[in-house]
Amino acid sequence: MSLDPNLKSQLAQFMGLLENPVTFQLSLGDCENSKQLKDFVTEIAEMSDKISIVEEALPLTPSLAINRANNEKSGIVFAGVPMGHEFESFVLALLQVGGRAPKISDEQVKRIQSIDREIHFETIVSLSCHNCPEVVQSFNIMSVLNPNISHTMIEGGTFQSLVEERGIMAVPTVFSNGEDLASGRLNLDQILDMVAGPRGAEDFGNIEPFDVLIIGGGPAGAASAVYAARKGVRTGLIADEFGGQVTDTLGIENIIGILYTEGPKFMGHVKTHVESYGVEIIDRVMVDHMETEDGIAVYLNNGAKIETKTLIIATGARWKMLGIPGEVELRNKGVAYCTHCDGPLFKGKTVAVIGGGNSGVEAAIDLAGMVKEVIVLEFMPELKADDVLQDRLRSLPNVKIVTNAQTTEISGTGKVNGITYVNRETGETVSEAIEGCFIQVGLVPNTEWVGDEVEKNPQGEILVDKYGATNIEGVYAAGDCTDVAFKQIMIASGSGATAALGAFQYLIRQ
Ligand SMILES: Cc1cc2nc3c(=O)[nH]c(=O)nc-3n(C[C@H](O)[C@H](O)[C@H](O)COP(=O)(O)OP(=O)(O)OC[C@H]3O[C@@H](n4cnc5c(N)ncnc54)[C@H](O)[C@@H]3O)c2cc1C
Repeated sequence: MSLDPNLKSQLAQFMGLLENPVTFQLSLGDCENSKQLKDFVTEIAEMSDKISIVEEALPLTPSLAINRANNEKSGIVFAGVPMGHEFESFVLALLQVGGRAPKISDEQVKRIQSIDREIHFETIVSLSCHNCPEVVQSFNIMSVLNPNISHTMIEGGTFQSLVEERGIMAVPTVFSNGEDLASGRLNLDQILDMVAGPRGAEDFGNIEPFDVLIIGGGPAGAASAVYAARKGVRTGLIADEFGGQVTDTLGIENIIGILYTEGPKFMGHVKTHVESYGVEIIDRVMVDHMETEDGIAVYLNNGAKIETKTLIIATGARWKMLGIPGEVELRNKGVAYCTHCDGPLFKGKTVAVIGGGNSGVEAAIDLAGMVKEVIVLEFMPELKADDVLQDRLRSLPNVKIVTNAQTTEISGTGKVNGITYVNRETGETVSEAIEGCFIQVGLVPNTEWVGDEVEKNPQGEILVDKYGATNIEGVYAAGDCTDVAFKQIMIASGSGATAALGAFQYLIRQ
């Protein structure tokens, strides 16, 4: 296997950034994957005289430890060939072990260095998973900065028996000293909250009141922040996770002026834009409730209180739950949401997709290329997806479509092994053997925390006027958490801009 010439020329530029010698410790066997890893590593080592190679066994074979000079351990191991989405993780690890400081805040460095017990993390990934690199890169940074921490990325395709043994049905899945720690997307701060303990109210004690405070770090919140900050008012943004739903989106083709982008990349640019205006971003905290009687204040889930003259609620939406047995219990054990991430784990298996709208049909089309059979279950008498998607779905030989199907249970012990639905026409109960179930039944607004004083429709969406104003003076809302007719990135951004201008107009009239 030889590296793509484009990749190689990009890599050549990075090699000049290595400050210290690095040793690649290779653990190889006779298999094809070992040969691929050896070719990959040899080609890279030839690009810099700072890199040397030693062959010495590691717990998993084939694998590669990126160590310091004289094979001094850094704690970072890649088991399998770090290509696909993990190539970037490999390059960053190489640079960081080679002396380049990771780009994280001083506070994050302090939290990492405060971990005083030995922990070995393992992250199981697939090379097509766009949520995996952030997790791998976070644990690698922790390993570089703290000798108590070590981390092995395990490429599931190379270590299929390990994946089967541990019953892994979602990536990334993280183990801490051999115990299940977490599955799904995680950023460094969320990992630190789990490993080093959450930040308390005292960490938020000195925050001055804001002119405009935004809750939500999706496109709506981010657009509000840029528009408000450009007016020169003190602007803050609180988000459980900056990026919102867009971070779950792989390909985006409908942001005007951008032919194609990917969710995490796009929201990375958006964050840089927000930060460039000096907006105070308070990330990885949840707002628990708000009060509007004596000025506007929001309370975080750690008890901290933050005051503001105006508030913009842009808390978006989340996947809707079906409320059936098995849905929660078997999450990440066969119950999944992201086909791009978890689809490859169901290669050769039968899976169900619940929901025949656009997202369900798109998921089924995507899965049909990877799995043995897809069963699409739609509650209504016909699919709701656009005709073009339905035509594509019906043209696929390994897809079965069942309409009028009310799913009643996802079954399995430890992992999914079946699904049961009632045929709403005949009343017949049908059970099918499946190994995976992708739920695609729409979204619900994240507005429960807002309370009843802010008017909402029966779906829980906040009612706003043409300025983005709610019924409460000084409180605005934007994006998917409102009753806006369509839920899209451009629409959320536009409504965020409207709400910020509305809030500014309100401020100058006070
Ligand atoms: C899989 C998928 C694919 C999609 N593809 C496309 C596409 O191709 N094109 C397109 O235009 N649209 C697409 N969409 C829709 C688009 O992503 C949404 O319309 C858009 O993200 C809505 O933006 P928002 O800012 O209103 O909310 P969100 O993106 O949902 O962001 C909400 C923010 O609020 C934060 N938050 C929520 N509750 C709290 C709380 N209590 N305290 C603190 N923070 C909180 C969240 O962490 C997040 O930062 C897709 C959606 C999904 C799920």
